[in-house]
Parts: sequence; C-alpha cells; structure tokens
Amino acid sequence: MKPLHALVIGAGIGGTAAAIALRRAGLDVSLFEQTMAQREVGAGIQISPNVSRLLGRYGLGDAMARAAVRPSSVVFRRWQDGRVLGREELGDSIETRYGAPYYHFHRADLIALLADAFGRKEIKLGRRLVDVAQDETGVTARFEDGSSERGDLLIGADGIHSQVRERLFGVEKPRFSGQIAYRGLAPAERVAHLGLPLDVTNWVGPGGHFVHYFVSSGRFLNFVAVSEEASWTREQWSDRGSVSDAAKIYEGWHPQIATILSAVDETFKWALFDRSPLPEWTRGRVALLGDACHPMLPYMAQGAAQAIEDGAALAACLKHVAFDIPSAFRAYVALRKPRATEVQERSRANSTSFHLQDGPQQLERDHVFATRGVRGSPEAMNRLYGYDAEAVAATLEEKR
Ligand SMILES: Cc1cc2nc3c(=O)[nH]c(=O)nc-3n(C[C@H](O)[C@H](O)[C@H](O)COP(=O)(O)OP(=O)(O)OC[C@H]3O[C@@H](n4cnc5c(N)ncnc54)[C@H](O)[C@@H]3O)c2cc1C
Repeated sequence: MKPLHALVIGAGIGGTAAAIALRRAGLDVSLFEQTMAQREVGAGIQISPNVSRLLGRYGLGDAMARAAVRPSSVVFRRWQDGRVLGREELGDSIETRYGAPYYHFHRADLIALLADAFGRKEIKLGRRLVDVAQDETGVTARFEDGSSERGDLLIGADGIHSQVRERLFGVEKPRFSGQIAYRGLAPAERVAHLGLPLDVTNWVGPGGHFVHYFVSSGRFLNFVAVSEEASWTREQWSDRGSVSDAAKIYEGWHPQIATILSAVDETFKWALFDRSPLPEWTRGRVALLGDACHPMLPYMAQGAAQAIEDGAALAACLKHVAFDIPSAFRAYVALRKPRATEVQERSRANSTSFHLQDGPQQLERDHVFATRGVRGSPEAMNRLYGYDAEAVAATLEEKR
C-alpha cells in the first residue's frame, strides 16, 4: 500500500521532531519552513527525560551527549543574598530514575541535530504557508510563492502565531503575560572566575527571576532574565535588547547576576505570551502541535518538550489507530490535551510563585521549596518526566 503523505508546516523544534517521528511510523513526509534557514536565537533550552528518551529512540543519543551539557542539579536561590532555597539532583540520579538524561542545549545545536536526523537538504525552505484546503481525498497547502502541495494529512507546527490554526479556527490573539524575558549567552571563560557548577540556577525575587546554565559542551553560559512589563507595543514579539537595560532590572540583587550580565555582548528581548487551552486542535485531515495549539510560559521549561511529545504521539496514533486519519487525530487530541493543559497551567502558576514580593506568601513558597521540592511534588515530577508519549499512544491499539 502507498504510504500516507504528511505535510508538516514549520521546521522548528516541534515540526522537525514530528517529521522524524512520522517517517519512523512509515509515512512519506514533506517538511516546509517559511524562513530561508532554520533559525533559533542564541539561547539555551532544557530537554528533560520525557523527551531525551524519545530523541534517543530516534537515534540521537550520541549526538545529544556530544552537543549538550548534562547538569548536576537544579538550584533555587534567594534574589538578595543567594541563600539556597532548594536543590534537586539532575545528573545520574534523574537518569537512573527515568532511564533518560536531563540535558541543556544551545537551541541552534538542538535544531541542527534534528535537521540532520531528518535530512537537512529535504527541508523545503522559503515556503510560507498562506492557506489550507481539504476535501474527502486529501489536503492542499498553498504557499506565498504561489506553489502548492497535496498530501493525505497536514500538521500545523507553525508556532504561536500559527497560520494553520488561523485557517482552521479563525483569528485569536495570544495573551501577553505582562512578563518579558532577556536571553543571551556569556562565553564560559569570561565567567570562569565565578566557579559556577554545572547546575541550572534560578534566582527568584520580587517581580522577576534570573536563570542560568551552561550549553554547547560548556562553552557558553546561557541566561534568561524574566521581569514584569505592563505592555508590549512592538509589532515583533522578539527584539534586540540592551544588556544595560537588563542589568538595571536586577539592581539590588546578588552581585553574581550583574557579573554574568557584564560578560554578555548581546541580548534578545522576548515578550512572553501564552493562550488559554484551545477547545480544538484538529479538523478533518489537519492537526496542530506544539506552540500552535498549546503555547505556554517557559516556567516549567516544557514548551519544546511538549511539542516533541506531540509529534511522537501523533505518529504513534497514525500507526496504531490506522482506520482513518480524523479518528487517529481525535485519539491524538484525547491523549495530548489533558497533559499539555496541565503543563500550561503549572507553568502559568509558576509565573506568580517565582515573582512573589517578600512576605508571608514568599515564606510559604520557600518552605515548599525546602521541604517538597523545587519543581513540584515527587508525584507531579514522576508524571512529567516518567511519561513515554510513544508507548502511551501505542497502547491505543490494544484498547480499541
Ligand atoms: C524564554 C523562553 C525559554 C524557554 N525555555 C524552554 C526550555 O527550557 N525547554 C522547553 O522545552 N521549552 C522552552 N521554551 C519553549 C519553546 O521554545 C517553545 O515551546 C518551542 O520552541 C515551540 O516549538 P514549535 O516547533 O511548536 O514552534 P516554533 O519554535 O515557534 O517553530 C515554528 C516554526 O514554524 C515556522 N513557521 C511559522 N509560520 C509559518 C508558515 N506560515 N509557513 C511555514 N513555516 C512557518 C517558523 O518559522 C518556525 O520555524 C522556552 C520559551 C521561551 C520564550
């Protein structure tokens, strides 16, 4: 039988990982990207065991170990004096518990690794989707350059401003969270005198937090500096930022933050958006994944992870619920939506908890960090990191 032909729109982390998963499931895959080169701004990304497990299965185990940093622990520190509020082991202990490592990547390294696994030359660059039409026999994607492609199914992996979602369900703007993030990299040799361990460190304080960890086999220290801003008026949702503006936000905080920022040459500024859970992710032969259907605030470090899980589940549903495409997509949504919604909601809750003013609520939060864990209860973490999206979807066949 001729394999199903999948059109994947968007070659970001979610789309490229989905393209690999769909091909592994036996589909013929065409991957389209609007830009002329796959782009990821210079910043880091955390990849937790729930997805390093999947990427390992895609044959990327050795490449990940070479490109990434394996952090030893996650640490939360108080903004003013650096007091450690809580710490959890990541390195060997998390790998033993969940059977897969925790990694820190430079985004460009991760996207390069995924592109190589799919086949860089096969990614159709400069193809911006402008319309989608479907009928009983297939789906047609139309592109800005006047070209079009026909397939059996289409996956919208085109990010928070998804055109595919707009074509399916109409225009709906994402919600500005009132928070912005500066992101950037400091060459490791410029911060060597700080003797920083291979931890991910989160400084939490009134109205903001500051995260740093090493990426690119330890050659750079990545930072994310989040603070509150009443409105975002720029048309772009990311912009070149000024390092001195970022430094001003953290005046009065522990001097280590100023030292890290003084080692940085350039920074980008991001408006942080999310969306309330969407009622629908699929219609007929079209389904959404990643930020296109569940954009989330980055406070669980799970946006890309959930997008990669989506791709694995989608591919497994198409393989195991093979009677028709809309049914496979409905099974995918039934599996994925409760999980992605829970992570979206937990991420939103952290945006308040990380930024508390000093006072009774902050003391209560610090007590929880010290006694219950910095990333949620052990049960919640088991649910998050112990999950195998491919295996869960594969059981659908048995249940049917
Ligand atoms: C500050 C910050 C820190 C974060 N940290 C983490 C972290 O540590 N761990 C984690 O898992 N997640 C993290 N995230 C979230 C993560 O970056 C996103 O959730 C993830 O990149 C979403 O992937 P995606 O493939 O769904 O969308 P995107 O990465 O947005 O990719 C969409 C792709 O589609 C293309 N595209 C768009 N429109 C079209 C079109 N019309 N036609 C063709 N192509 C199109 C785009 O050019 C792009 O390449 C963080 C986010 C932020 C803002």
